[in-house]
Amino acid sequence: MVPVAPKQGATVVLFVGGTKGARDVEGSLGGQHLAFFPYGAEFAALAGIDLETKPGKVPWRIGLVDRSGTPRKAAGTLTVKAGGFPVQRLTLPPGMVDLDPDTERRAANEAVRLRALYDTLTPERLWRGAFTQPVASRKPGEGFGSRRVINGQPRMPHSGIDYSADRGTPVVASNRGRVALLGEFFFAGRLVALDHGLGLYTLYFHLDGVAVSEGQMVERGQLVGTVGTTGRSTGPHLHFAAQLGRARVNPPDLFALPVRD
Ligand SMILES: [Zn+2]
Repeated sequence: MVPVAPKQGATVVLFVGGTKGARDVEGSLGGQHLAFFPYGAEFAALAGIDLETKPGKVPWRIGLVDRSGTPRKAAGTLTVKAGGFPVQRLTLPPGMVDLDPDTERRAANEAVRLRALYDTLTPERLWRGAFTQPVASRKPGEGFGSRRVINGQPRMPHSGIDYSADRGTPVVASNRGRVALLGEFFFAGRLVALDHGLGLYTLYFHLDGVAVSEGQMVERGQLVGTVGTTGRSTGPHLHFAAQLGRARVNPPDLFALPVRD
């Protein structure tokens, strides 16, 4: 398992050795279904540790039928460490932070649409190898997991990384996938969601322009849109996020994925 002691928001790669010729490989980590894929002569799976997973022990189990037809099982625990995310406390005029009822309803509906997307598991792995940074930027994306407390009320933690870039800067697909959703959302603005298969999604928010259509297959590095400041945004930047099922994970782990193919 890589890494052995992941932090909140980590992507864990499980390599299951000694499984040549095995079938029906399945398992779970922290109650989350693991989608195994053939890897070389064996099997591997990605598991997301949601950024709000409580630090401590998370159980995992794996089951399979080996090549002689014998069912085999393994189980254990993984220790999740705290992410050490910063907390920012702000005081703002209430009019700036409270949404009117219509907007609140709209934002809630949009959140439901995104959740339904993350619950949709495409059984085929569309991605290959490590993921790529979606925008040319000298500075790494920042802000994953940071939480704002506005007027004493904790807000949702920041579930992606932000790249500051000029409006119109090209935004490219981080890996191969299918355009699963295009939208104009209250918080996210103009957005593209890519389905990489096996429950893995990447998200591109606040876009100015969109260069793809829903259902289209895109290759790693293919243009999907341009940087903008649409939605709830204070200036041109790309908000880039990754989901493994319902787990919000830190995208740079995907850039360093120890999967070669
Ligand atoms: Zn952001």
